[in-house]
Amino acid sequence: MMFKALVIEKDDAGYRAGVKSVDDNALPDGEVTVNVAYSTINYKDGLAITGKAPVVRKFPLHAGIDFAGTVEASSDPRFKPGDAVLLNGWGVGESHSGGLAQKARVKGDWLVPLPAGLTARQAMAIGTAGYTAMLCVMALDAHGVKPDSSGKGDVLVTGANGGVGSVAVSLLSRLGYGVVASTGRLAEADFLKSLGAADVISRDELSSPGKPLGKERWAGVVDSVGSHTLANACATTKYGGAVAACGLAQGMDLPGSVAPFILRGVTLYGIDSVMAPFAKRQAAWARLAQDLDLGKLEALTQEIALDAAAQAGADILAGKVRGRLVVNVNA
Ligand code: NDP
Repeated sequence: MMFKALVIEKDDAGYRAGVKSVDDNALPDGEVTVNVAYSTINYKDGLAITGKAPVVRKFPLHAGIDFAGTVEASSDPRFKPGDAVLLNGWGVGESHSGGLAQKARVKGDWLVPLPAGLTARQAMAIGTAGYTAMLCVMALDAHGVKPDSSGKGDVLVTGANGGVGSVAVSLLSRLGYGVVASTGRLAEADFLKSLGAADVISRDELSSPGKPLGKERWAGVVDSVGSHTLANACATTKYGGAVAACGLAQGMDLPGSVAPFILRGVTLYGIDSVMAPFAKRQAAWARLAQDLDLGKLEALTQEIALDAAAQAGADILAGKVRGRLVVNVNA
């Protein structure tokens, strides 16, 4: 059986990604074969598709770190044909063929049953970006950062117009936090306020080299940007507050000081979605199904066809994508 996939190749002709017709023999080993309904474009998919960072470690490879669909065949007793499932990470779309394809074959251990209340399209509108936003929110919540209507509970979200950022803004506002959204796209301030941001600030306030400590502003931070932005976010977090760091859109460096940690007791949490254990994933997805306003999710989502995914990969790295892109692999 032939199916379509966004295939990444690297050989004498160079590094390239394009939609091709492939057959089942192109699928890797795995216990569960899934008919993919939707995938998505995350920042890491952009890196993989363009080759701007060496995230793909096997060629040829079907792109896509996420997918949602229904089981076609399974030798894993936990799954049977027709089951609705989703997948995020585990090296899929990096070293194992992924979800920007009409079919995928993976280990049963990597799959999460689609949570009740979410469609495959909604799950991919959330995708790794939204699931990572939820992991950040859970880290702040477990730390004791709670909503506070007096403003003491303000949470900063950086890269707010991006995938992680826009879902984090929606989630945190729904949970009652005062959300301050930091963005390079102030023209999108109304969009961010429609998602629930109480205030929108320019990312220029945070993106240049700063002081070891600044005025205490945030009870918590969700940072998808890294570099000076993360250092300044730590330096302006209130006594005892927490920062959840998950991304590197500005840079992988962390040019700060220990002052926020040793003088203000600030805690920096590292958030990884790729290898997160099953129980944590399932908890995050259950909370997404419960806590995320699906109307807001739709408002921050655009749907594209598989043929448009390669261009979308370049666009997300160029900071041109607002919110989330779902890919209808059968369109
Ligand atoms: P997006 O491209 O959708 O969002 C990134 C946002 O960061 C942009 O929209 C932009 O927001 C902001 N940004 C971009 N460039 C810069 C810059 N030079 N300086 C400051 N801000 C910038 O990507 P995702 O939301 O999919 O991913 C965000 C980050 O999180 C990536 O680095 C990604 O690799 C990482 N990530 C990590 C995961 C993990 O498991 N740890 C999982 C998922 C993502 P705005 O226009 O509002 O300023």
